[in-house]
Amino acid sequence: MAETGSTTPPRPLGLLAELTHRCPLGCPYCSNPLALDTRDGELAAATWARVFREASVLGVLQVHLSGGEPGARRDLVEIAASAHAAGLYTNLITSGVGLTARRLTELVQAGLDHVQVSIQDSAPSSADHIAGYEGAFTRKHELASEVVRLGLPLTVNAVIHRANIDRVGDMVDLALALGASRVEIAHVQYYGWALKNRAALIPTREQVDRAVTLVDELRARHHGRIVIDAVVPDYYARYPKPCVGGWGRRSFNVTPSGKVLPCHAAESIPGLVFWSVRQHTLAEIWQESPAFNAFRGTAWMKEPCASCPRRDQDFGGCRCQAFALTGDAAATDPVCHLSPNRAQVTALTAVQDDAPYFYRRM
Ligand code: SF4
Ligand code: SF4
Repeated sequence: MAETGSTTPPRPLGLLAELTHRCPLGCPYCSNPLALDTRDGELAAATWARVFREASVLGVLQVHLSGGEPGARRDLVEIAASAHAAGLYTNLITSGVGLTARRLTELVQAGLDHVQVSIQDSAPSSADHIAGYEGAFTRKHELASEVVRLGLPLTVNAVIHRANIDRVGDMVDLALALGASRVEIAHVQYYGWALKNRAALIPTREQVDRAVTLVDELRARHHGRIVIDAVVPDYYARYPKPCVGGWGRRSFNVTPSGKVLPCHAAESIPGLVFWSVRQHTLAEIWQESPAFNAFRGTAWMKEPCASCPRRDQDFGGCRCQAFALTGDAAATDPVCHLSPNRAQVTALTAVQDDAPYFYRRM
């Protein structure tokens, strides 16, 4: 893979800390890799504390404590406290299952700044079915209410796909009822588990068009009450999104076992070697590791990206998607209408099958 010669990478702003891959739920679109890290390989709290200090020195402002379900870590409060002590704005991304009100209070006392709770649907039985966990809807509701009661800002992350896209309006209403200040309409991205379940998850063009129109109406209706973030799902877009703000430009992930990735799906690209915080400092990894430099800048690009005026806006789209759909990680993201492979993506949107989900399990 070509190096770009980019000698001074920008400073990262965000760190996604995947504290564990353990999770009681089994979402069929989970962004964790198919090969999940096991508990015995997880970084110790003291190592996370060092990672947070190094991240802060590197320029990171915000850490997302994520998983799996971060509540599965018994030392979560200690970990959150060390992120706060490092001066990072500390956000907890939780399924809402596995965290008690008491632990949430301890997290607030430890300096937690913000909580993001994912929801599977506005209809309880459908939500539990999608999560593969009976009672998940109720537990999330209770946890979200507790977050607001404790005075923390709450974001609801509504993951959208064929089974729930027609209830986008109800999910925004649910977020409002829970007291959220922001709701993210997050269409499923087809990597990992979601790629495995793509035919069962992908919405129709008509569903997407209706949802996009509705979101515009909801934004106008609820202006000043709740912020609604949404992007058009990739497979129906004209241009790709600037994936993770550009490879090795804005943020990075640390996996439960300590590998540092430019994005959560990066391990799906063969041939890249990801350095670990067990052997290297974050600064070494960010600045010098071959994997982070593989797709920085524009020298690695092929046509049509190489001479495209948008190449510094969307950076050619997602490298993982390019590899998953074309077998070439340096190809133009095939969701771009200028890609020679765009017809393949359009054909895939027609492959729909209501087969049972392939749930994510350890
Ligand atoms: S997406 Fe679902 S299964 Fe995956 S970590 Fe989140 S709650 Fe757990
Ligand atoms: S050709 Fe490449 S740079 Fe141009 S819009 Fe498409 S993906 Fe972006």
